Amino acid sequence: MQATRMAPSVGRLLRRLGAGSSRPSALLGQPPPGPARRPYASGAAQAVLEKSDSLPPEASTRENQAKAESKSFAVGMFKGQLTTDQVFPYPSVLNEDQTQFLKELVGPVSRFFEEVNDAAKNDMMEKVEETTMQGLKELGAFGLQVPSELGGVGLCNTQYARLVEIVGTHDLGVGITLGAHQSIGFKGILLFGTKAQKEKYLPKLASGETIAAFCLTEPASGSDAASIRTSAVPSPCGKYYTLNGSKIWISNGGLADVFTVFAKTPVTDAATGAVKEKITAFVVERGFGGVTHGPPEKKMGIKASNTAEVYFDGVRVPSENVLGEVGGGFKVAMHILNNGRFGMAAALAGTMRGIIAKAVDHATNRTQFGEKIHNFGLIQEKLARMAMLQYVTESLAYRVGEPRVGAGFQDDLTWLSVPRRRPGR
Ligand SMILES: Cc1cc2nc3c(=O)[nH]c(=O)nc-3n(C[C@H](O)[C@H](O)[C@H](O)COP(=O)(O)OP(=O)(O)OC[C@H]3O[C@@H](n4cnc5c(N)ncnc54)[C@H](O)[C@@H]3O)c2cc1C
Repeated sequence: MQATRMAPSVGRLLRRLGAGSSRPSALLGQPPPGPARRPYASGAAQAVLEKSDSLPPEASTRENQAKAESKSFAVGMFKGQLTTDQVFPYPSVLNEDQTQFLKELVGPVSRFFEEVNDAAKNDMMEKVEETTMQGLKELGAFGLQVPSELGGVGLCNTQYARLVEIVGTHDLGVGITLGAHQSIGFKGILLFGTKAQKEKYLPKLASGETIAAFCLTEPASGSDAASIRTSAVPSPCGKYYTLNGSKIWISNGGLADVFTVFAKTPVTDAATGAVKEKITAFVVERGFGGVTHGPPEKKMGIKASNTAEVYFDGVRVPSENVLGEVGGGFKVAMHILNNGRFGMAAALAGTMRGIIAKAVDHATNRTQFGEKIHNFGLIQEKLARMAMLQYVTESLAYRVGEPRVGAGFQDDLTWLSVPRRRPGR
């Protein structure tokens, strides 16, 4: 079977387009009446805020800002206060051309996943089949948000979210592979790269000729990202850094050619002369030498996506490969994660949609006690709950995905991470 190709005219049209769509409505409700209530709807959310004193200075500032006053819809939800005019009517962000162009893309991408990709085979092989990888490269799926002048499709967040929703509906393992590449892997180059860095790396990354990965997590550093131990020591001549350390659970870690790596570097305070260890972000090529990886992790799900340890052993990284400012790596990491997060939410909204379709299909075809089981109240309740959760997830994903929908966007992104930080999840 042939991989579906994106018509060149579609690609060209995409590149001319710029921004926003009308998603259907969103979860609504009236702001709760009455006097003061517990400031945060969930005890866990409250605990996260109260813990902010123990966070690194950058994170603490971020949390405190959210605490002070926020126009974020998501913060409002955690407070039990919905600002309904932010989502009702649901913000429309794509213009006519963009909507039309998105419609032209949805068909080919959906067909690709229905006719070419084999999710069950990928899962069994614990890797994405080569036919799918090649087909996705031809579709332009590795550079959806890279500007067209650098070889990408130049989609805005809303358009990107709609496409990854389709990917998530069919095969989340492929979704993670694509997401780790562009939502976080090379997002730092898009957001913080110099002109030279963008021109050097983005064209090959957009075409899928090279694959990217994002390397933050370490054996002793997960949520507490500021505690990483990987180090990058500047050379006396100032021309390069020597990178040493290891990262764990890196998506695409075994496939990637280009890595966004976070490491501690000595930074001298200009005013006091004191030297402090601060995080700096680097673009590291496997070709620099000294970069190796472990075997693919055995996971419970998303098996087709590669997750591996990555080791940096005396890697010489040229100074021009510093991403953003020396010592500014924590900010780089948080911006990448905040910017990439909506893509994950959109992909998972798609996964939920796909699962609901399968559940409905089963419920309408399975007979027990002489009746189709969809006639039983408990089954109906389950399906209704699934539909509600999917609706909320999808609405939130599009709400936080588009910066132009109103104030509080940055806070919305930040707060989208709160459920991940809740204990027991
Ligand atoms: C499939 C997969 C792919 C991944 N891909 C990448 C990748 O590409 N690149 C990368 O860098 N990393 C990657 N990771 C790592 C991932 O980002 C980390 O798992 C994440 O940062 C959380 O860290 P942790 O798992 O060490 O959990 P921990 O930080 O150890 O947290 C454990 C638990 O404690 C809770 N907790 C932590 N702090 C607090 C707090 N202050 N208050 C309340 N509760 C708290 C957490 O919510 C969690 O439930 C991946 C992980 C997985 C599973």
